[in-house]
Amino acid sequence: KEPTLGNPQNTIEVLQKYNFSFQKKFGQNFLIDTHVLDKIIQSANITENDMVLEIGPGIGTMTQYLAQAAGKVIAVEIDKNLIPILEDTLSGYDNVRVINEDVLKLDLKKLADEENNGKPVKVVANLPYYITTPIIMGLFENEVPVESITVMVQKEVADRMQTGPGNKDYGALSLAVQYYADPYIVANVPPNCFMPRPKVGSAVIRLTCHQEKPVQVQDEKLMFNIIRASFNQRRKTLANGLKNAATLDFTKEEVEAAIDALGKGASVRGETLTLEEFARLSDLLSPYKK
Ligand code: SAM
Repeated sequence: KEPTLGNPQNTIEVLQKYNFSFQKKFGQNFLIDTHVLDKIIQSANITENDMVLEIGPGIGTMTQYLAQAAGKVIAVEIDKNLIPILEDTLSGYDNVRVINEDVLKLDLKKLADEENNGKPVKVVANLPYYITTPIIMGLFENEVPVESITVMVQKEVADRMQTGPGNKDYGALSLAVQYYADPYIVANVPPNCFMPRPKVGSAVIRLTCHQEKPVQVQDEKLMFNIIRASFNQRRKTLANGLKNAATLDFTKEEVEAAIDALGKGASVRGETLTLEEFARLSDLLSPYKK
């Protein structure tokens, strides 16, 4: 069935019919541009063999496009006022299930296992920006079986996810995302493609999940603690960041010896290290964990 939403007129019509008022706290900015919607669907490579998990369907605009392309769509929406609207706008599609829940409280691994027999799903969403990072890191860290994540996020966040060492946007988020997936920015999207318009620029980013991790590390948790500690104090040297971190308890000597064994000078800064180097640093320090 051809989508009926995706342009400003039809969106306004639906909003008026249900007397819907936007809730700021839920990060509601609905897409009103068919080109952007086509681009998202196309770059997510959806086929009828796919199950798609959509986070925050809103009035069901992108859901219609997804339902047309995918075998099955599960859409998780927190706002109960949108549920009757979704029943209406999705009534012509028999392959959509709407769940009225907070996505951060759902067991998405269990859901994917039940609904798709443990086969990896594709996540596609125009995300609520106030919880972009917890949603994406939750998918990775809870080992939800996911093939790819194609999402609209704040442009600045997309840049942080994609960038590498030495860049001003490089940080803990870049490393966390790149440990689990290969990021690719598909398009930049201006505020006028949404209703209401967000105050920031947006971008569509596709994260293709690694079949195998790009680096081997003995203690993942320690590596991410080290990564966070070295970016916590940006203007400090790596050695100082690690010595002063509340979450780590290595001595000055242990930290300095590890940095030296890594082949780096005492004044090296965390933001110059690659994922491989953080993994090695973690392995060098892990014997000294108390
Ligand atoms: N997909 C729609 C579109 O593109 O027009 C709406 C996108 S809007 C940016 C984000 C949507 O996520 C809203 O519908 C909002 O109510 C929903 N949302 C916000 N927080 C949520 C949460 N914790 N769990 C599930 N949905 C949430």
